[in-house]
Formats: sequence, structure tokens, C-alpha cells
Amino acid sequence: THDVHIIGGGLAGSEAAWQLAKRGFQVRLSEMRGAPADKGGEMTAAHQTDGLAEMVCSNSFRSDDHERNAVGLLHHEMRRLDSLIMRAGEKARVPAGSAMAVDRDVFSQEVERELQAHPNITIVRERIDTLPDSGPTIVATGPLTAASLADSIVKATGQDRLAFFDAIAPIVHRDSIDMDICWFQSRWDKPSAGGGSGNDYINCAMDKQQYAAFHQGLLDAEKTEFKEWEENTPYFEACMPIEVMASRGIDTLRYGPMKPVGLDNPHDRTPEFPQGRWAHAVVQLRQDNKLGTLWNMVGFQTKMKYGAQVELFRTIPGLQNAEFARLGGMHRNTFLNSPLVLDRQMRLKDAPHIRFAGQITGCEGYVESASVGLLTGMMTAAQIAGEDWTPPPATSAMGALLSHITGDAEADTYQPMNVNFGLFPPMHDVKKKQRKEAYTDRGKTEFGKWLNALEAVPA
Ligand code: FAD
Repeated sequence: THDVHIIGGGLAGSEAAWQLAKRGFQVRLSEMRGAPADKGGEMTAAHQTDGLAEMVCSNSFRSDDHERNAVGLLHHEMRRLDSLIMRAGEKARVPAGSAMAVDRDVFSQEVERELQAHPNITIVRERIDTLPDSGPTIVATGPLTAASLADSIVKATGQDRLAFFDAIAPIVHRDSIDMDICWFQSRWDKPSAGGGSGNDYINCAMDKQQYAAFHQGLLDAEKTEFKEWEENTPYFEACMPIEVMASRGIDTLRYGPMKPVGLDNPHDRTPEFPQGRWAHAVVQLRQDNKLGTLWNMVGFQTKMKYGAQVELFRTIPGLQNAEFARLGGMHRNTFLNSPLVLDRQMRLKDAPHIRFAGQITGCEGYVESASVGLLTGMMTAAQIAGEDWTPPPATSAMGALLSHITGDAEADTYQPMNVNFGLFPPMHDVKKKQRKEAYTDRGKTEFGKWLNALEAVPA
């Protein structure tokens, strides 16, 4: 007997289990790695051990600087909420300057030891193949969710609401785009479906010479190789990397994502074209979040190495100082279209006894996944206890991430995202140089108030 069933003992599931257990709830934590064959024991393509909360790639929680960095602020907030992942991370810490890096084995053992020692947690090595019909459940099966369960999720959400790959176009901070060079306009001034002004895109024009150099840059750029288990993937048809398109011919992109027609460049007016001339090629950016702080480069999914992307994309007129909230990439990654299928409390709208947590909700990163697990554990605890739930303020790192996942992101282009200041309500009145500190100061103050109010409620 248990109060909550958590499926997946990764970063998110472990943290959610801890948060529930310490509030007095009985948790069953199901993990498929290390299960016997008759219980569906299975490894993922990235994990190497049976340990809970295994870090599959780098050993870093990234920046620990809570004064200038969004993920550092997230660390700070998680520590204030007695996060198991942060606590175990501290014990496993290895020197890494201002970053927080850990010994991954010590870290995983420490998480597992704490969970095993907790009287309210039962760890069961078993694979779960279907979403439970009833009872509070948290699904935290990560970017490499077992196929059987993924099928069950697809049945519950609809075929096109669970993605198996991310094909990410780079996302740029709006305030780093040079609007003296770019301009707002939708092609043929047409408003987008579902509303819009006819000025919904930011356009960057290229002349013939700039385009030729850019095309060559795409061909020459260093690319990341596909991992063995990423080969034979069907996404090429739907979402071709930009450099593959470029390799098909000099003009392929000009008939695809860089089509220049119907876009009048107001910075290039002539008596003959008083509205502005059409460019040889155009890169378009589309708004990526409701706040309007992040814009994605339309159709620019890519396998170019990160350094090569920054170098080449900054040659695009108007993006010479671009700051990227995330760079392009293509990976195997199972994630929900959360803004569409989850409510503000991470519950499946059509089956509200089920919550989702971790990377499967479309956050990205160890710490982000754990923080969403933490919040989901708190939400579940509040619900069972019959208490109201107030989310952390949108000005905090946790609140910003949560708002993004549960509704502020654009559902059409939803792709996994690390925490970053572009998800925070903007502070236009603060000078750019002081903005990072301003975001973290505001976040800490408001998060502190939220926490005080929470603690004032008798449990
Ligand atoms: P996971 O940690 O993957 O946990 C999910 C758990 O669920 C796993 O233990 C899995 O075995 C289990 N499970 C799956 N299906 C079932 C089932 N049906 N029944 C029972 N158990 C099940 N993030 C970073 O910050 N830095 C990196 O360097 C990094 N590298 C990555 C590399 C790869 C190849 C991948 C795929 C992701 C990487 N990530 C990285 C992204 C992400 O942060 C991690 O994947 C993170 O572990 C996600 O946490 P999670 O709890 O959501 O999922």
C-alpha cells in the first residue's frame, strides 16, 4: 500500500519521492534498471548502471552562481526546499570553479542510500508498461522512457502530443537582436493562423554575397555525429537539418526556410520600391514564449557543433551580437507537448490522477529535471492533504520554468529548454549590465516571500 506511485527513479523521480516521503506520504518508486527479467528489467541506451539518479553524460550541475546565473538561482531555491539532489550533490562535490560538478558514482549512491533508508519509501525494481487507471501517480521516466510505457502515454495523450526526438532550432534573446538592421513583418503581411498582427516575424536580410558566404559556412561547419542509437531515425523527412538542406544545392534554402519573397526590407527602400526591396535571402525568427523575450530561428534545426553555430549565426545581419538561450540540436528525446496536455499543476488534463515530472515534461538538464520533480512532489503532497497549492512566483527560477512548461511556451514550437533568464518576466527598465543581478535579487526576494507564506500554513 502506498499513497503515491512514482514511475522512474532518475533525477526527477528520486527528488519527488524524497519530497513526498518527508511530508509523511508512503511512496512506491518503480525503476526498471536492475529489475529481474520477469519484472521487465531493461537498460536505457544512455544509462550505464542500476543506480538511482544516474547522471548519463556530463558530471556537472552547471553554474552554482546564484547572483548572476539562472541555473545557480535554481540551485539556491532547491537548497531552500531541502532538495535531496542538491544535498547528495554537495556530498559528492568535486572542484570545478564556480560550477557545481560531482563524482557521479558517489552522487548516485548517496541518493539511493537516502531513499532506501527512508521508512516511507519502497523502491521496487520493475518496469511499468501502462499508465495506472487510478491513484496518485507521478511519471518521471525521462528522455529515454521505455517503449511500452511510451505507447501507453501516446494512447492517453494522442499521437502527436508525445515527441521522440527534439529538432531544435536555435533560440535567441530578443534584446540581443539588432532592430536597426532587422524588421518586423509576416510574409505578405499575412497575420498568422490563430491571430497576429501581420508583423509577427523578425526578419534578417542577406544580399547575394552574404548568402553565398553563409551557404559555404553551413557546408564547412563542424557537425556532431549521430550516435549509434540515433541512426535510422525517421525525423529527416519531417525536420531536415539546415546543413543537409544546404548540401542539396545553393538555392535549396532560398526555396525553404530562407525564402525572401513577400518581405519588404524597410532599411532598403528605393523610389521604385518605396516599401522596401526584397532581399536575396531572409532568416526569420518567430516568437517562442508569451513574454516575447525569446525568438526561434525558423527552420534552423541543425547538427552543427555549438561553437560553429554561434560563429556562423552571428554572421547573419542583425544577429551579430546574438545571445542564444539555446543552440540548435537533434537528439533522441521523449517529451510531452506539456503546454497542451498538462494543467498548471503538471496533471494530465484528461487523467488528472497522473502527473508528469522531469525531462519528459520538456525541461532540459539534470537540475531542471530534479526541480520539476521537487515541485511535482510538493503539488501531489498538497493535493492529498487537501491543501491549496500556490505555485512559486514566476520571477523565481522554479516559477519561471513551471510557467514555461505549463502554458507560457508556444505549443507549436515546444522544445525542451534549460532554465534561463529569457523565461523570466522581463526587466526592461534595468540597464543590461545590471540585469542578471536584478533578476536574481528579485527572484530571491519573491521566492523567499512565497516560502514564508508556505511555511506559515500549518501542515
Ligand atoms: P532520467 O534521469 O533518465 O530518469 C528516468 C528513469 O526512468 C530512468 O532511471 C529509467 O531507467 C526509468 N524508466 C524509464 N522507463 C521506465 C518504465 N517504463 N518503468 C520504470 N522505470 C522506467 N542533462 C544535463 O544536465 N547534462 C548532460 O550532460 C546531459 N546529457 C544527456 C545525455 C543524454 C544521452 C540524454 C538522453 C540526456 C542528457 N541530459 C543531460 C538531459 C537530462 O538532464 C537527463 O536525461 C536527466 O537525467 C533527466 O532526468 P529525468 O529524471 O527526467 O530522467
